[in-house]
Amino acid sequence: MQKVDLLITSGQVVRSDSILKADIVVHDGKIAGLVEDGLRPEAEQVIDAKGKFVMAGVIDPHNHMREPGITKRETWVTGTMAAAAGGVTTVLEHPVSIPPTATLKAFEDKKALADAKSLVDFGLYGGDGTTSIENIPALAGAGAVAFKTFIWDYPDRAAEFEGITCTDDDALLEIFEEVSKTGLVQTLHAESKAIVQHYTKKLVAAGRKAPYDHEASRPVLSEVEAISRVVLFAMETGVRLNIPHLSSGSGAAVIKAAQDKGYDNITAETCPHYLFLTKERLQEIGPYGKVNPPIRSQEEQDKLWEHLLNGTITTIGSDHGPHLPEHKEKGWDDIFEAPAGSAAVEALLPTMLNAVSQGRLTLQDVTRLMSENVAKLYGIYPRKGVIQVGSDADLILVDMGKEVTIDRDKLYTKQKDACRMFDGYHIVGWPVMTMVRGTVVMRDGEVVGEPGYGQFIARLTPES
Ligand code: ZN
Ligand code: ZN
Repeated sequence: MQKVDLLITSGQVVRSDSILKADIVVHDGKIAGLVEDGLRPEAEQVIDAKGKFVMAGVIDPHNHMREPGITKRETWVTGTMAAAAGGVTTVLEHPVSIPPTATLKAFEDKKALADAKSLVDFGLYGGDGTTSIENIPALAGAGAVAFKTFIWDYPDRAAEFEGITCTDDDALLEIFEEVSKTGLVQTLHAESKAIVQHYTKKLVAAGRKAPYDHEASRPVLSEVEAISRVVLFAMETGVRLNIPHLSSGSGAAVIKAAQDKGYDNITAETCPHYLFLTKERLQEIGPYGKVNPPIRSQEEQDKLWEHLLNGTITTIGSDHGPHLPEHKEKGWDDIFEAPAGSAAVEALLPTMLNAVSQGRLTLQDVTRLMSENVAKLYGIYPRKGVIQVGSDADLILVDMGKEVTIDRDKLYTKQKDACRMFDGYHIVGWPVMTMVRGTVVMRDGEVVGEPGYGQFIARLTPES
């Protein structure tokens, strides 16, 4: 009998419905079998997973690689090294870049660039906005996994947002109608500019510009108002709408109300910083904790958890969006001068594993929220997101006994110095190996993958 490429022995295999003891057979980059230990085929390579959990690799649905564009912030090489280090085997990259991914040419150029540099597999969002509505069918045809727009304009970052903003309801409805014809998911940054301007103006007039004032300038009201409005539009047009980086339980309640009326086209994603940090963290790390929407109160976070556990929120993303420390530093004196965003991909899975150690959710929940549901929402299931015969062998080994204190100096992101949200956090449960299509790209914390190994993953189906 012909030898298989790889056998992963004696691990506990985690799937969303069960944990089973099985060996995993890998051949030609795919999962070729799940076998009991008496039935092992001969293999070229054997990895002993005794004492470890074997999970589907994490798919990060919310990632900003900054390239092409501002490569001082991050690149496809450093960003996907960080992904591999954190157990992420596929990144779905958002359209904010220079140029933004709002034309077929920009999409194909970014695809070629990432194909040459990425260590892990990747999918791309198409960007849509008032001036790029006519590009929606072509971007969908090119294999985009979803669309993203911004309901604000960003004059100080115009080159990064050209063609992906939509500031009026007329164009937004048009976008929703066009995207609904493609079957793809539409996402958008849900905060109300008018409400944020209103509160920011008052804070500035009162001389309040300390880091802690960031949350007050973008209150829960601004998220709830924006979500309410776009949810109504999604109900009307039938577009599949996913609200990314949901920060508040109050925002989640709006989505839950729509879902309870039968609108299963409306879904939500949250991020670890909204699940584990509260606005008090801004006093400790200042502008390094500035993200939009902001980190909220304990009360909002508790409600957000309820909506994670009851199924309102179905995916978790990192919102990896690095900025330079020298730009962040300006925020100590005036928080409104600092850019929002943080390099978050390496902490994505570890923080959730730590929540498993604390008994807040299970490993099955983690694989459902961070792999299976993500693959299904973005149309790359069952190639990705599940351990079953025929799927890509994107696998991670997790050691739930391993304790690590996050040290930003040891991170792979280019912006490790600005990566402080979870710096110093003690984590129990850690990914110790990452494999993409059967090839090890991280072993014991060391990234060993090659730039350019990662492949473009097109949307397989409009819905699955
Ligand atoms: Zn956003
Ligand atoms: Zn983002």
